[in-house]
Amino acid sequence: YIKEREKNNFKLFTEDMNYHFYRKMMIEKELREAVERNEFELYYQPLADIDTGLVSGMEALLRWKNKTLGVVSPAEFIPIAEETGLIIPIGEWVLKSACEQAFNWQQMGYRPLKVGVNISIRQLLDKNFLKKVATVVENSKLDPRYIDLEVTESIAMHDSDEMISKLYRLKEIGVSLSMDDFGTGYSSLSYLKKYPLDTLKIDQSFIRNITKKKDNQAIVNSIISMAKHLNLKVTAEGVENKEEYQFLSNLHCDFVQGYDISRPLNAEDFENNILVTN
Ligand code: C2E
Ligand code: MG
Ligand code: MG
Ligand code: MG
Repeated sequence: YIKEREKNNFKLFTEDMNYHFYRKMMIEKELREAVERNEFELYYQPLADIDTGLVSGMEALLRWKNKTLGVVSPAEFIPIAEETGLIIPIGEWVLKSACEQAFNWQQMGYRPLKVGVNISIRQLLDKNFLKKVATVVENSKLDPRYIDLEVTESIAMHDSDEMISKLYRLKEIGVSLSMDDFGTGYSSLSYLKKYPLDTLKIDQSFIRNITKKKDNQAIVNSIISMAKHLNLKVTAEGVENKEEYQFLSNLHCDFVQGYDISRPLNAEDFENNILVTN
């Protein structure tokens, strides 16, 4: 009986493996042609200045709808795009589209907002990355001071001298740099004094239940105070209600992003509901 059960467990296990393997293969196959087939769309989520409540920026977030797979979440397809290197052309499409959209909205007379673009480590390690950013920014005609590149702590695991000089050269293009998901990645903080960062985006896991959880309060309070001393701005991610907003305001956080302000919206909804004219 036990033998039989083990055999069944193994069968279930391998079926599960096969399913995941198959799904991953399908995603990879479909991702290869997703840019040409125009299957991607950018959603935009506002960031607000915590003191005034005014929208001060937006983050571009990638959405993918495929004819056979339907809507696939970035949490599922971004890691596959990174693993396969497909994130390089996809990331270039994201940067180009975000810059063009931001420029168009400025041309239409809306108050200018900085646009945050997520950059994967694979893109940063690409030897053509700097040139690509410079070209895309120039072609879009968007003033680079309205572009914020969001990188993650995974960049701290790579050869630091080369990474540092790359980040400085990005700054020379005129863009700003944010550390995304701050606090969840690399464990050493020494990179904070070496990298030319402008903003720390505190990961949403630390914001969750901040009004009740003493440990999260201690962590967020310390991050904010450290950031002030390092002359960095702080954005809290994943702010879901007024209580969390107020709590972060008392801690002198600079910017907030999250469902309390707005969910990510498609360009049309963002234009109609968030953008304001001068
Ligand atoms: P991220 O860059 O940290 O983006 C924030 C994520 O938190 C987004 O998920 C957003 O929808 C979600 N979020 C915002 N406010 C709240 C909130 O109040 N509560 C909760 N529970 N969630 C909130 P999304 O759009 O599913 O993206 C997930 C991740 O996928 C992003 O995390 C980013 O790491 C990656 N990603 C998205 N677009 C791109 C892209 O164009 N390029 C790259 N390389 N990565 C991307
Ligand atoms: Mg981000
Ligand atoms: Mg984040
Ligand atoms: Mg993230």
